[in-house]
Amino acid sequence: MPENTNTSSMDSIIALCKRRGFIFASSEIYGGYNGFFDYGPLGVELRNNIKNIWWRDMVQRREDVVGLDSSIIMHPNIWKASGHVDGFSDPMVDCKESKLRYRADQLFVSEVFLDDQSAGYIATLEGSALSEKIKQAKKLRNLKGNKQAKIDEAKLDSCNIDFTEIKDAERLITLGPDANELGTLTEPREFKLMFETKVGSLADESAVAYLRPETAQGIFSNYKNIVDTGRVKIPFGIAQIGKAFRNEITPRNFIFRSREFEQMEIEYFIAPDADWKSLHREWLDNCINWLASIGIPKESISEDVHPEDKLAFYSRATTDLMFDFPHGRQELWGVACRSDYDLKQHQEHSGKSMEIFDEATKQKFVPHVIEPSLGVDRTLLAVLTAAYDEDEIPNDKGAVEKRTVLRFSPKIAPYKAAIFPLVKNKPELVELALDLYKKLQKRWNVFYDASGAIGRRYRRQDEIGTPYGITIDFDTLEKDGTVTLRDRDTTEQKRMLPEEIFEFLESAIEG
Ligand code: ATP
Repeated sequence: MPENTNTSSMDSIIALCKRRGFIFASSEIYGGYNGFFDYGPLGVELRNNIKNIWWRDMVQRREDVVGLDSSIIMHPNIWKASGHVDGFSDPMVDCKESKLRYRADQLFVSEVFLDDQSAGYIATLEGSALSEKIKQAKKLRNLKGNKQAKIDEAKLDSCNIDFTEIKDAERLITLGPDANELGTLTEPREFKLMFETKVGSLADESAVAYLRPETAQGIFSNYKNIVDTGRVKIPFGIAQIGKAFRNEITPRNFIFRSREFEQMEIEYFIAPDADWKSLHREWLDNCINWLASIGIPKESISEDVHPEDKLAFYSRATTDLMFDFPHGRQELWGVACRSDYDLKQHQEHSGKSMEIFDEATKQKFVPHVIEPSLGVDRTLLAVLTAAYDEDEIPNDKGAVEKRTVLRFSPKIAPYKAAIFPLVKNKPELVELALDLYKKLQKRWNVFYDASGAIGRRYRRQDEIGTPYGITIDFDTLEKDGTVTLRDRDTTEQKRMLPEEIFEFLESAIEG
């Protein structure tokens, strides 16, 4: 298991998200619905900020990328051409004893040695700690009736075979993650991930359609429209943000893997003989820099280069940007070089030419693509993980107090600033505070709060990640008109004129 640089716990993040209205389980009043989530008042702000900044940086601030918003349900032939109807599935394993279901490629098998003799195998979920493996090995030891036998922990730790790769004979002597007997896990079988629905008044097979499992095919199927109308020149990209749906076998780890999620994808079209390796590297660096710009530190990002023998036949290279989530190091952003496979498939199935004429080289070809594909929800979880912190600061009386703080970058914070009159029973103070609040609100999402001790009000904002607190006090009224600006992270305060606040916020939020 790779070393994880993040120490925030998933439980604290989930609890904060519920407590402060970022994320709720979907259909909670009916007991929830596994794999679906709802974003509350603060969650929807954070989510929109992430999407808007991605769009601004990847589309509006580039000359070579244009946008698209295609429909979620498309002609079923699109999914036949793309290979999803036949091939978009995950290997699934059932446990006959516990009745639980697992994704076979997320189950790992380790051989258990008792007194240096092989005694069978245990299966644990991807990312399980050694302590979990030891617990399972002890269960296996009990089954063998030899409670004194020594477990070889080093071998247990080093052995990690993907469940899809084990032989039948090994499977039959494997203890499943939630089983008490050996050999209760079934052989892996393919489970189709696309959600089916029916379109139109006929309820027969011809009406079957699919909720899109990725936004990319909407881009490929509109590629010709954009080439014909958009005055684009090779190389160029088409970007799309939108919902995607996958009937995941094991949705888990909060919003990391859900059944309804949102993607931000780009198909970047290049000439077949372009230096794709350099362009791939350029996109990877661009993606890492973008993550850093919204507050995801570079140290928490690593690269997982897919080995050549594991690549799909049409793929030239794939590198996943991995983030240290609270549950382990996992894929955040996939950056794949997908050759001309998708466009050629659509050309063949639709009978429409997908060729482009490149004015620069006077050549006609079907372009290849580089595909950076990022999940909005995973980005949001990464942002929350990176921002979550607990520290100690002095309270109003000078004593040290614990606080929970979300250190969001001002760019993505749900509220950019909170405005407070020092006391609520002094009408002149309240009037000034409301005046500044109304002015700031024309430009940014800001919060007004007049009730409670000022320290408590600051702390409430710290917990939802508001980067600045602005207090209107007696000095504002009686001296020079300046207000106090408090920094969430350092808790330092400085006095500024209201006009200076605008300039300050502008550079912090939009710079
Ligand atoms: P995994 O191996 O984790 O299932 P994948 O390799 O199938 O993911 P892609 O098809 O490459 O994922 O999807 C691109 C991006 O979409 C992922 O990097 C991730 O950010 C996001 N994504 C994919 N599946 C889900 C999901 N079930 N829930 C949330 N985000 C997802």
